[in-house]
Amino acid sequence: MSEPTEDSVRADVAAWLKDNWSPDLGLVEWRLKLCESGWGAPHWPKQWYGRDLPVKFNAVVDEEFAKVGAVGVAKAGIRTLAAATILAHGTDLHKQKYLKRILTGEDTWCQLFSEPGSGSDLAGAVTRADKRGNKWVINGQKVWTTSAHKAQWGLLLARADWDQVKHKGLAYFIIDMKQPGVQVHPLRQMNYHASFNQVFFSDAEVEPEMMLCDVGDGWKVATTTLMHERRGADGTRNWATSTGKKGRIYEEEAAEVATTMEPYKWYPQRAGRVDLILPRAKETGAINDPVIRQEIAKLLIMSKSAEWTARRARAAQDQGKPQGPEGSLGKLISSNVARQAARVHTYMSGQDALLSGADGPMDGVIGEILISVPAGSIAGGTDEIQRNIISERVLEMPKEPSVDTNKPFKDVPRNTVAKAAS
Ligand SMILES: Cc1cc2nc3c(=O)[nH]c(=O)nc-3n(C[C@H](O)[C@H](O)[C@H](O)COP(=O)(O)OP(=O)(O)OC[C@H]3O[C@@H](n4cnc5c(N)ncnc54)[C@H](O)[C@@H]3O)c2cc1C
Repeated sequence: MSEPTEDSVRADVAAWLKDNWSPDLGLVEWRLKLCESGWGAPHWPKQWYGRDLPVKFNAVVDEEFAKVGAVGVAKAGIRTLAAATILAHGTDLHKQKYLKRILTGEDTWCQLFSEPGSGSDLAGAVTRADKRGNKWVINGQKVWTTSAHKAQWGLLLARADWDQVKHKGLAYFIIDMKQPGVQVHPLRQMNYHASFNQVFFSDAEVEPEMMLCDVGDGWKVATTTLMHERRGADGTRNWATSTGKKGRIYEEEAAEVATTMEPYKWYPQRAGRVDLILPRAKETGAINDPVIRQEIAKLLIMSKSAEWTARRARAAQDQGKPQGPEGSLGKLISSNVARQAARVHTYMSGQDALLSGADGPMDGVIGEILISVPAGSIAGGTDEIQRNIISERVLEMPKEPSVDTNKPFKDVPRNTVAKAAS
């Protein structure tokens, strides 16, 4: 068979859409067709709802979908991280059980990594997983868990062997969030949204086959999830927006956006809304101010270079190379872009930028940008942590001194209450 080209992929997807797309279908019904055909996740393996196409063709497929107004598979949220992790490390059982429902949007996921005493120092997790009979039993606390209040399934990093050193005693599970022993408490943020939660585990159970790796390999699997999270800008993850179009599928999509996507509705603001900069500059007359124009130029240059870095990451992925430093570089650049965008928005709106709701410019969107942008420098690993990764792995500078990686984790002094089994 000849190698796919942009033209051949475009022709294939256009022909398939012509025969299959209809806005009168139900959302899940349509997405099941996408799973069958592989056009919902063309870069996934053929065996698992994809077409084995290089990821660079996703943009071509998206363009053809947009031309006819076709709805895509569910791409927003932690589900895409779950899918990437399961594709890389899962068994056939995991793939069968979860991948299709991720694409159809029927299941929502959350990422149970951060704890009160381990965010940046994620490998210091102390949520415990103990084998009792033929089940794993989970006890402990997670925090910052986006969407846990909506999630059916969680990606859980927990300590299963306290006699091993820090990075070697972890296990990685898929856990049912709707079982007894899992309590979810929402947290309110400074931008008024409540997308994160605290999650408490009290003897919550996991079947042994729901472990994604052997005990001790949990850190390796978590690294896969984090790499994908940091690379988020590569177009395989997205936030869903409602099109406002008429037709059964658009109405169901709008309902999905209003419910499942609710925790993410401020995410575009978190990225700084670079798309609003030029229209606002023209509308407010700020475009004529030489100082603001300089700041806008700086922002657009940064934004363009971020896009190119993301493309470089995509090209590397395309060539089958393992995730490189572009994830950390891209994440750091996107924090800088968001901060610069917030700065320019502030220049353009002046003190009104502080007003929220209908009192503020753009019905409070500008105010929401200002108080949401700091999240980007924290979520998925802080800017400082990305700089550490870049300095150690790219620039090959000496590693940070460590005092806790050369002894069994149970002997490492900690400031949290969790303890090794007595
Ligand atoms: C919008 C958002 C969504 C999130 N969603 C999730 C989620 O779904 N699931 C989840 O598990 N977590 C989630 N998080 C948590 C996030 O991953 C953590 O907040 C982040 O890793 C930082 O951890 P921490 O908050 O414990 O800060 P800490 O690790 O306590 O860091 C505090 C400060 O110290 C600095 N610091 C720490 N260590 C170093 C070091 N070695 N060198 C230099 N500086 C250092 C940090 O950069 C930071 O400025 C989310 C966070 C946000 C903001």
